[in-house]
Amino acid sequence: MPLYHDSHMHTPLCKHAWGEPEEYAAQAVERGLNGITFTCHSPMPSGFWPHVRMSDSEFENYVALVERCRLRYEGILEVRLGLESDFFPGLEGWAKALHERADFHYILGSVHWQGPEYRAMFDDEDEFAFRRSYFENLAASAETGLFDCLSHPDLIKNYFPGNWHFEEWQETIAAALDRIAKTGVAMELNTSGIHKSYKEINPSLSMLRMMAERGIPVVVGSDSHYPRRVGENFIPALQTLQLAGFTNVSVFKNRLRSELGISEVLRSLHPLLEPSLL
Ligand code: ZN
Ligand code: FE
Ligand code: FE
Ligand code: ZN
Repeated sequence: MPLYHDSHMHTPLCKHAWGEPEEYAAQAVERGLNGITFTCHSPMPSGFWPHVRMSDSEFENYVALVERCRLRYEGILEVRLGLESDFFPGLEGWAKALHERADFHYILGSVHWQGPEYRAMFDDEDEFAFRRSYFENLAASAETGLFDCLSHPDLIKNYFPGNWHFEEWQETIAAALDRIAKTGVAMELNTSGIHKSYKEINPSLSMLRMMAERGIPVVVGSDSHYPRRVGENFIPALQTLQLAGFTNVSVFKNRLRSELGISEVLRSLHPLLEPSLL
């Protein structure tokens, strides 16, 4: 029986994802999932990195698009409305108001270091300081209380990926995780990392171990920008979670978290042929 949920995927409204929501839903059924949450890129104030997100005027379209898919898949697959909401210092008020504009099941908070506004604020051409500010912002995003879960929480390893050495960051990461653990906010295991320039899931096994030690709950998401990626590499990702010391995995509904046993979830998924790069 299908048990688990893919909690991170996009729609064409963000201008860099392809396929109708119903195609994502079809792939989820194929993978043995019982639900999906759309988390498309949030609208931001006008002019803020506009070509990677829905515009404010498309917000209602987004809600309607997910609702259309939910109705078409009723009784087959649970389809939920979520949002991948950018965390940016100074725009917390924007995010707070945005999160109240619809009945979201799940709000992912994202520190997107690649954004031009983010680079302008934090990148002084000092690689070390820039990476440090990423983890500082990650912890700060959890402390706002605006988000249910933190997306792809070591995304910064793709910044000059050849210069990323986990050991050098262990202390900084530990300090950030201590702060995050206190908030109770969950963190994501995002399987799209193997397609990024630093080819590894986000976060790495070593960082997952540190999260397990602190009792930080984990939600798994594919971050699909194409239908075929829905549920991709969930089996190796869940096995990696077990290796890191987790026995349970989380999912959100009505912004409330519940847990499932990883071994039961593993039995429920359909093993499909896929490039296992973990
Ligand atoms: Zn995206
Ligand atoms: Fe993201
Ligand atoms: Fe995403
Ligand atoms: Zn993403």
